Amino acid sequence: MNTISSRLQHILATIQSARAAGHCQQTVQLLAVSKAQSALRLREAYAAGQRAFGENYLQEALEKQAQLSDLAIEWHFIGPIQSNKTQLIAQNFSWVHSLDRLKIAQRLNAARSASQPPLQVCIQLNVDSEASKGGVAMHEVAALAAAIVSLPQLRLRGLMAIPEPSQDRDKQRMQFKQVRECYDALIKTGYALDTLSIGMSEDYPIAIEQGASIVRIGSALFGARQPAGTIAASA
Ligand SMILES: *Cc1c(COP(=O)(O)O)cnc(C)c1O
Repeated sequence: MNTISSRLQHILATIQSARAAGHCQQTVQLLAVSKAQSALRLREAYAAGQRAFGENYLQEALEKQAQLSDLAIEWHFIGPIQSNKTQLIAQNFSWVHSLDRLKIAQRLNAARSASQPPLQVCIQLNVDSEASKGGVAMHEVAALAAAIVSLPQLRLRGLMAIPEPSQDRDKQRMQFKQVRECYDALIKTGYALDTLSIGMSEDYPIAIEQGASIVRIGSALFGARQPAGTIAASA
């Protein structure tokens, strides 16, 4: 039976076998990417044991947060961030994976209340210079990291990347490896990082082998996404 619960068990088992095959020391957390999924489906994943959920679109996420306020979900923001959305993102999420501009970091920092724990952030790295995907270029990461650690309401945890999807496993592996090397270089410089957010439904075993500590998985867990605009009606 192809339920969310059975897919979740399958993914968790695949994560463990990828760790074993790669002789990985790091723990690997599953982030359930729930964009374009109804609140009901998140509730189903929660009932099966999933706690961390990733959303790309603020308005959609806020609606689901309201509908699921009885659950102890850890919310991660993983989509592009417009500056007029920083206030609500800072107030309603525990994590932001898609930080790629100093101005956004400063606005998130200003909007994060001192009564909340610091916002956990990853810098999004652009590995293939695909302008559309967002993320900072490799040579800009060190400067952005230095600026972020001076912001008291943010806590820099690591790097996130969305390499261009490819059927070529070696290419995929190389791209993850580049992110990993950039991450290792930052640690060597003295940053206390523990999070490498790489790997999605199609490639997470390779990402784990290359050191992923968070894999962001949507369709392999929830099935195909519903067309835009149908969420509110079906929730
Ligand atoms: C949609 C999305 C994912 C999940 O993609 P799947 O291929 O469905 O697993 C992961 N990360 C980001 C940033 C996304 O936008």
